[in-house]
Amino acid sequence: MSELGAERFAELHIDHVRRAFGDHVALRDMDLTIKGGEFVALLGPSGCGKSTALNCLAGLLPLTGGAIFLDGKRIDQLPPERRGFGMVFQNYALFPHMSVRRNIGFGLSMRKVPRTERIRRVAEALRLVQLEAHAHKFPAQLSGGQQQRVAIARAIVLEPRLVLMDEPLSNLDAALRLEMRTEIRRLHQTLGLTTVYVTHDQEEALALADRLVVLREGEVQQVGSPEEVYAHPANRYVAGFMGYRNMIPVAVHAAHGDSVTVRADGLELVGANRDDLPAGHDAVAAVRPEDFSVAGADVENTIPATVEIVEYHGREQVVEARLSGGLALHVRTTSRLAPGDEVRLAVPPERVLVFAAEGSS
Ligand code: ATP
Repeated sequence: MSELGAERFAELHIDHVRRAFGDHVALRDMDLTIKGGEFVALLGPSGCGKSTALNCLAGLLPLTGGAIFLDGKRIDQLPPERRGFGMVFQNYALFPHMSVRRNIGFGLSMRKVPRTERIRRVAEALRLVQLEAHAHKFPAQLSGGQQQRVAIARAIVLEPRLVLMDEPLSNLDAALRLEMRTEIRRLHQTLGLTTVYVTHDQEEALALADRLVVLREGEVQQVGSPEEVYAHPANRYVAGFMGYRNMIPVAVHAAHGDSVTVRADGLELVGANRDDLPAGHDAVAAVRPEDFSVAGADVENTIPATVEIVEYHGREQVVEARLSGGLALHVRTTSRLAPGDEVRLAVPPERVLVFAAEGSS
């Protein structure tokens, strides 16, 4: 177990927080309680208000409504340095003229931490991010991943109550991003630091977080565990963001309890009625590419289609197939297909999520 350990809190409550820039509301009525030790990801596309939420927590942006409480004590009027939070940004923000060791120890010097304790804590942070061998180097002599490790070490060495991370991996190449993702998860497991992590990458959020908060245009759409958000997206928007890449325009033919039969030109599917839609309603049937399989003629819940594009992805192929009505479907399959193949694409009814069509709910 590490010697670095944060002063734990029980509960951080973001109480109906709002932030507007002039007429534009970047964050609308955000209400969320984060428990000590939790790893929470704020997830959404560019402009949805993730950084605004993080900056409100950090104290870099004043709120225009609501309040923030840490264990019942109001903190949203405190300046950033009095909140005891650590920040890790996308662009590292290291001091170029200082060695790795001095970059990491800088905050401790500023806080007048005694020399022997400072040396011990910097050594521990260097060990945690596996940079002992690079302690004497300057940032320009490090790779992007190593620089990001320094930025993380610099935050955790201060033993912050809460670590705020804003897209910390987005400047790294794909392989390094995966490596650092595991590193961040490992550090969280070792230190148990409460973390709020901003990302637009759903895979990163699913891999790292205990809970996900999905945002859209400043509004929270869903809060849940990775399993909940992945398997039971709250609405059409969250489904689209969580990898339900096929959004097939359909009309409800018959509704029976939680189940629904939908139709479109050349197809009929049974799915889960997620918006409680009645017969006749315009809808979309959301299906993940990997939930389709290539089936024989006698299988239920199939869509006839013609294969148009086939991409090689090792064990799998990524296929674009065209329906008779003209719509293109995205399919991931281990079946070997070729352009021109006539196929029946099967999908289990529970993997077809039927939501109200945009503008009709
Ligand atoms: P990104 O991933 O691109 O950083 P984000 O989800 O973090 O996006 P925010 O940076 O929080 O989004 O921005 C939310 C909205 O608020 C955007 O529409 C943005 O244009 C607006 N906004 C953010 N900061 C300001 C500002 N200082 N003045 C005016 N509008 C702002």
